[in-house]
Amino acid sequence: MNIVHISAECYPAAKAGGLGDVVGALPKYQALLGHKTSVVMPFYHNKFRNENHFESIFTGKAKLGWHNYTFNVLVPQGLDLGYELCMIDIPGLFDRPDIYSYDDDTERFITFQVATINWMNMQDTVPDVVHCHDGQTGFIPFFMNKIKDYERLKDIKTIYTIHNGQYQGQFDWDKLHYLPPFHSFFNGILDWDNAINPVACAIKSVDKVTTVSPSYMEEVQYSMGGLEKLLQIERGKCTGILNGIDNDIWNPATDTMLEKKYLARTLVSGKRANKDWLCNVYGLDKEKPLFVFIGRLAIEKGADILPQAIYYAFAKLGREFNILVLGSGDKDIEGGLLHLEHQLKGNYCSYIGYNEKLSHTMYAGADFLLMPSRVEPCGLNQLYALRYGTVPVVRRTGGLRDTVIDIGDGGFGICHDQCTAGDVIYSIERGLQLYQDQKRFSKIRKEIMQIDHSWTKAASDYIELYTK
Ligand code: ADP
Repeated sequence: MNIVHISAECYPAAKAGGLGDVVGALPKYQALLGHKTSVVMPFYHNKFRNENHFESIFTGKAKLGWHNYTFNVLVPQGLDLGYELCMIDIPGLFDRPDIYSYDDDTERFITFQVATINWMNMQDTVPDVVHCHDGQTGFIPFFMNKIKDYERLKDIKTIYTIHNGQYQGQFDWDKLHYLPPFHSFFNGILDWDNAINPVACAIKSVDKVTTVSPSYMEEVQYSMGGLEKLLQIERGKCTGILNGIDNDIWNPATDTMLEKKYLARTLVSGKRANKDWLCNVYGLDKEKPLFVFIGRLAIEKGADILPQAIYYAFAKLGREFNILVLGSGDKDIEGGLLHLEHQLKGNYCSYIGYNEKLSHTMYAGADFLLMPSRVEPCGLNQLYALRYGTVPVVRRTGGLRDTVIDIGDGGFGICHDQCTAGDVIYSIERGLQLYQDQKRFSKIRKEIMQIDHSWTKAASDYIELYTK
């Protein structure tokens, strides 16, 4: 099969979260199953651009309202990613360092989609499957199905994966002219709640919809930022497929970002070296158990309760453990986390920002990973934690429910039901009790490193779905 993935993120070219990890890995594992895979994404002016050379393979035009943008399709040279990476360079819209959060994101991602489909329409061969990821690519299936200029692409099967249902990118109908012209008869496909909604449009237009875990598929039927009814109506074409992890990148035995690599056999010394490094750099006591949080500082991640939970955890349980936070996002949460540093010096520290290397060292050096998420479509952090022998402490929701079993139920993690400071503190307390029982703790750490969450199964589940 010839499969094209379209996405705003793809690791290592650009990553803001799990979407980047998934799109960077899934095509590689599908290619290993014998399929031709490629990824189409925007060309950002970021580190990846500065560190690589690119060849231009196509130049075209993409219209956004009255504006006609020139775009180039660039392919990185001398990189073996396991799939073909095609990057759409649109000067004026994407020659900036960040992926999202600009005022003109609507204009940027519509133009990206128009450029992508114009280019696909000009190629000699068309793919068998077009797999779109999240709202930034939600119009592509509609363009393919309903716009005369792209009739050649009409019979290609389309699939849309919801990685995050919260960010829908809806905009007012007065921007309708941004889209290529089509018969007004189809306006209803674009509409949700009196706005143009790319996620709703994708769900209505595609052959199959997937979410990144089975539990999240259940949850979106009653909570998905206003689209619940639509998901209920379209339920028949929806499936939940649990994400995998890229074992080539997330492997403590080969991870070059670590202070010391390790196997299950050498877990104790390996984790010790990484923990020592973290404690030295962030002024924490090496002898105490270390809890970490890594992720976007957003309400859906439960990050808003962290400052309160951290403060009262130390107040209630004493200063016999440490917490290190890595993340960025909501300014109030960032402020709340930074504010605690002075009061909790020696036990707590936060790194506000994005740091890939530090995240790897934290998965390796930590004893426990905190994930108090309100919403977690799949969650990759807990899967990375398992692979690095770090015990996950999670709220039972979405993919966390599907992947972490509580130690009280014969499992290997610590689970709580509510996204509240009280539940997090109680879970930390349970973590400390587990840590006291070093024999049991050590056994669990070794066992969780062996759990297989590789992409091999999920990649073939997607192929099976395309085949259907
Ligand atoms: P999301 O909802 O953000 O996509 P996931 O759990 O699916 O959540 O994926 C998060 C990914 O982003 C993981 O690879 C995690 O390590 C990474 N990540 C999140 N925040 C940061 C950060 N501040 N620095 C480094 N990596 C981060």
